[in-house]
Amino acid sequence: MQQRYSFIYERLYQYYGPQNWWPAETPFEMLIGAILVQNTSWRNVEKALVQLGEFLDPKTIEHLPEVELAQLIKSSGFFNIKAKRIKAFIQWFNKYEYDIEKIKQIDKQTLRTELLSIYGIGRETADAMLLYAFHKPGFVVDAYARRIFTRIGKDVPASYDLFRKQVESELPADLSLLQEYHALLVEHGKMHCRTKPLCLGCPLNDLCDYYLTSFA
Ligand code: SF4
Repeated sequence: MQQRYSFIYERLYQYYGPQNWWPAETPFEMLIGAILVQNTSWRNVEKALVQLGEFLDPKTIEHLPEVELAQLIKSSGFFNIKAKRIKAFIQWFNKYEYDIEKIKQIDKQTLRTELLSIYGIGRETADAMLLYAFHKPGFVVDAYARRIFTRIGKDVPASYDLFRKQVESELPADLSLLQEYHALLVEHGKMHCRTKPLCLGCPLNDLCDYYLTSFA
C-alpha cells in the first residue's frame, strides 16, 4: 500500500527530529546560499560564504565588480556563472529596496513567477527561496526527494511542478512542516537513502518497495 506523504514526514520527523533549516544567519545569507548551492555540496558553499564575509550584504554586492565577486565565491564552483546569477538576483532585489518584509507581502504565485524570471533562478532555487526566506509554504523538489520517494514506491511524476503539486496536495500549507520536510529529506538522503542506500536501520524500510523487494 502506498503511504501518504504526511505519514512519511511523521516517520522522518520522529527519527531525525527538528532540523531547523535553512542553515543561515540571515534571510539574505539564505538567498545567496540558495544560488551558491546549485550543482555543488553545502561544504563548498560554506567556504564561499566565509570568503564573502563582510561583503555579504546586498548593497555591497551591488557595487562589487562581478569579477571580484566571482573570485570570492570560487570554492562553490561554476563561479563566473554564479556571480552573474547573484548580480541578476541583486538587481531584482533592489527593486524592493532589499526589504524582505516588503517582498513577503507579494502573493506566492506572483512572487514565484518573478523569481523564475531572474537569470539563473530555476524552480528548485525559487522554491527554496520562497520557503525559507520569504515564508511561502511549498514543497521543494530536489534529487533527494525524487530518489527517496521513487525507492519507497511512490508514483513520482517526471515533471517538477507535477511532483511538487502531488506532494503539496497531501500536506497542509504549513510553513514549518514544509521547511522541516525538505530538510528531513536532505538528511535522510545523506544518512540512509544514499546513492548506495543503507537500508538496515532505515526508519522507512517497512514501507519501502526497494527494501521489501531487495531484503524481505
Ligand atoms: S529502506 Fe533503503 S531505499 Fe528505502 S528509504 Fe530506506 S534507505 Fe532508502
